[in-house]
Amino acid sequence: MSDRILLSQAQVTEVEERYVLDALRSGWVAPLGPHVDAFEAEIADRVGVAGALALSSGTAALHLALLELGAGPGKVVVLPTMTFAATANAVLYTGAEPVFVDSQRQDGNVDPHLLIEAVDTLRTEGRDIAAVITVDLFGRCCDYASIEPALAEREIPLLEDAAEALGASLQGRAAGSFGRVAALSFNGNKIMTTSGGGMLLSDHNDLLERCRYLSTQARQPVAWYEHTEVGYNYRLSNVLAALGRGQLSRLDEMIDRRRQIRERYASGLAHLPVTFLGRGGAQRGDDDDNCWLTTLTVEDGPDADAVVGALSRQRIEVRHLWKPMHLQPVFDRARTFTTGVSDDLFRRGITLPSGPALSDDQIDRVISTLVSLISDQGQ
Ligand SMILES: *Cc1c(COP(=O)(O)O)cnc(C)c1O
Repeated sequence: MSDRILLSQAQVTEVEERYVLDALRSGWVAPLGPHVDAFEAEIADRVGVAGALALSSGTAALHLALLELGAGPGKVVVLPTMTFAATANAVLYTGAEPVFVDSQRQDGNVDPHLLIEAVDTLRTEGRDIAAVITVDLFGRCCDYASIEPALAEREIPLLEDAAEALGASLQGRAAGSFGRVAALSFNGNKIMTTSGGGMLLSDHNDLLERCRYLSTQARQPVAWYEHTEVGYNYRLSNVLAALGRGQLSRLDEMIDRRRQIRERYASGLAHLPVTFLGRGGAQRGDDDDNCWLTTLTVEDGPDADAVVGALSRQRIEVRHLWKPMHLQPVFDRARTFTTGVSDDLFRRGITLPSGPALSDDQIDRVISTLVSLISDQGQ
């Protein structure tokens, strides 16, 4: 029986082993330590922001960022419906109300015109908008050329959920550098991993310092444990930061491999009635996707559910795109500005195995399985 082909398996080498061993042997096991400081400095430098705060998850970064932007009861946060639940959950943790906005067709990222329409509609109704969150879906930056100036004009802070997008850029600016504050994730299946972890990025040192304080139980700087507000236990450990530094040293190499995999799919599937999300970057010639996951919609043939089922029987892990938040039972009462695009992307969209450890033979097996499935049913 052939190997099981996984969607996005982490790749760990001796480089990472050396870093983690250094952390263990240095004695810096109890949570913080020099690898945390170095990891923050290296990520901030890579993304081009003033500072970074290493946290236990991307969700924790979103939560703290929202708290600092003033999200809370009576406030509204506007965000894309096509995202992972963590983005929306973080809004609920603060007590604010999430309002969802539909996708643009070419890449599934938030529709910038609908986003601004939602903001203006909510304002006209007298709603108090704490922040807008954008999500750089599957490793591709949103249309910030439209979104940033429109939000700045309305004085609404932007939180960039760049959990999937480290290494991507738009017009020379790195994902994670848009907005007042941004969140990264280093979960196991992301572009790089600390096994579990995240980071908050910002150019605003006061915001970073406030989040640093909240992330370590909001302890006052006195000799005993003194607390004047609710804190969290959200910091990343020194051992995991060491793993992150090892991964970061190989990030470009891992992105290059994901890009080669994308190109192999593009040529192998070119004759099928499928559309790759975000391909045809011609509309925005200078954007650079990190190729985290290769995603496509089947235009003519089996729906996503049938493709996922058929490939799973061949031991190939293909997944649906994120199920839009407005279709999730937990958010079924949430306000949504929809056009039907995300519903359609969910019905027809799949993500293909894209991890850097996949071999060309494995990619070719995914291609030939898709070719026989889609061309059989298309006839
Ligand atoms: C993975 C992810 C998160 C959450 O990150 P964790 O580190 O798993 O908490 C948030 N938003 C998006 C868009 C993600 O893909």
